[in-house]
Amino acid sequence: MIWKQTTLSGWGRSLWANMPVARPETMAALRSAILTDEPGGILPRGAGRSYGDAALNGAGRLVLTERLNRFLDFDPSTGRLVAEAGATFNDLLTTFLPRGWMAPVTPGTAFVTLGGALANDIHGKNHDRDGSFARHVVWFDLLAASGEVLRVDLENQPELFQATVGGLGLTGMVIALCLTLRQVPSAAFEVSEERASDLDGLMAGLVRARDFASHSVAWIDAFARGKSLGRGVVEAANLAPAGTVLSERRHRRLTLPIDLSPQVLSPLVVAAFNCAYYRRTPAGGRHRVVDAQSFLYPLDAIGDWNRLYGRRGFHQFQCAIPEAEAPRALRSLLEAIADARGASFLAVLKTLGGNGPGYLSFPLKGWTLALDFPVRPGTGELLAHLEAMTLDHGGRIYLAKDSVMAPASLPRMYPGLDLYRKVLHRVDPEGHWQSDIARRLALRGAP
Ligand SMILES: Cc1cc2nc3c(=O)[nH]c(=O)nc-3n(C[C@H](O)[C@H](O)[C@H](O)COP(=O)(O)OP(=O)(O)OC[C@H]3O[C@@H](n4cnc5c(N)ncnc54)[C@H](O)[C@@H]3O)c2cc1C
Repeated sequence: MIWKQTTLSGWGRSLWANMPVARPETMAALRSAILTDEPGGILPRGAGRSYGDAALNGAGRLVLTERLNRFLDFDPSTGRLVAEAGATFNDLLTTFLPRGWMAPVTPGTAFVTLGGALANDIHGKNHDRDGSFARHVVWFDLLAASGEVLRVDLENQPELFQATVGGLGLTGMVIALCLTLRQVPSAAFEVSEERASDLDGLMAGLVRARDFASHSVAWIDAFARGKSLGRGVVEAANLAPAGTVLSERRHRRLTLPIDLSPQVLSPLVVAAFNCAYYRRTPAGGRHRVVDAQSFLYPLDAIGDWNRLYGRRGFHQFQCAIPEAEAPRALRSLLEAIADARGASFLAVLKTLGGNGPGYLSFPLKGWTLALDFPVRPGTGELLAHLEAMTLDHGGRIYLAKDSVMAPASLPRMYPGLDLYRKVLHRVDPEGHWQSDIARRLALRGAP
């Protein structure tokens, strides 16, 4: 196996690591790569779309799954697809959408691997109705530390299933999985957009959308204060019936060729952008029919958009807040964020339908707020404050996005942590699988 010393970051480009990296293409190569006794352990990495250090292993080695990306089997009578873990949602979309099939749950970018989606038990804009990714996984094949491949499903190995989905790659490497795809009438979404002038209006709009739309999401103006605190735009959408004509076409994909200067996203610029973006939706709302990519993956229209934040990168803060606490918690969080004037224009609110099947699955019944913060003086203090508020309201931070959380917060946010650790100690007592986030947050527990 060829190992190449490589420097990589999380998607936020605020945390980096330099380590030997391999890109195996066959099972034999993969087995020889993982059976290493080098210190610091080994970690699978998908497309590197986790923002912080979940897909980094600076003290050890990384195995990239990008060449293990074949579709192995598809049964149109059940919708069951068997794919290697390095296949991406984009691969799935280009192959299956023209044939009338789609992933039942997808994140906000198509450039995520199925293995990465499983390891973070990702959720989409339809979590209320369809739950998280793992709910649609029938089984997966897990390459364990011993070199053995285990076929895992919820019925027969419930604990290993629950520790692996959302388990951040620490139980082993998923090499293939069986996912139930959804048959769809078209490749388009009918989207309604509604402006809300404050937080109560925005939350009410998302609650209404639960009744008539399969997918919903709200953009928030994170600079608005006072009476306008929490204003934004609610998007609610359903798949369009067959034969519906698009009202808009996707723009050509642009790529950001350089790191932008931090001034480009200064608070003044972002506040002005937010005002214009809010007003772009007419006061009476609007309806559009757009292709699935434009609705599901709006940010994919700009390649390498993470370079927008300049060389120092950015952090994403994403929390989930239980239903009963949400009105108070979201108000306090948004007040702190607006006062700090440190967020970017990427700020999103969604509803969540309930707990995911993994011990460390992020979703719960309630709401999730996600915002990007360019790295600047004071950003660390603000994030620590938001973390403390999240804890006070019984919420949790999404580990796929985190790069700064304190280890002491982890057991308070994730009640399944002890069960997760028990499985790790059973299937990997030597700590063969390791990562930077595992060391930073003591995911395995005290040594
Ligand atoms: C623009 C953008 C929008 C996003 N929107 C959403 C969203 O709406 N909802 C959401 O839930 N998330 C969202 N995310 C986060 C993203 O879906 C997750 O971070 C996802 O896990 C990334 O997958 P990846 O293939 O890039 O995996 P990586 O980031 O490379 O790895 C993620 C974790 O998975 C593990 N892993 C990867 N492959 C395997 C494997 N084969 N076997 C075992 N473990 C493995 C890694 O060790 C790591 O711990 C978004 C990210 C971006 C950049």
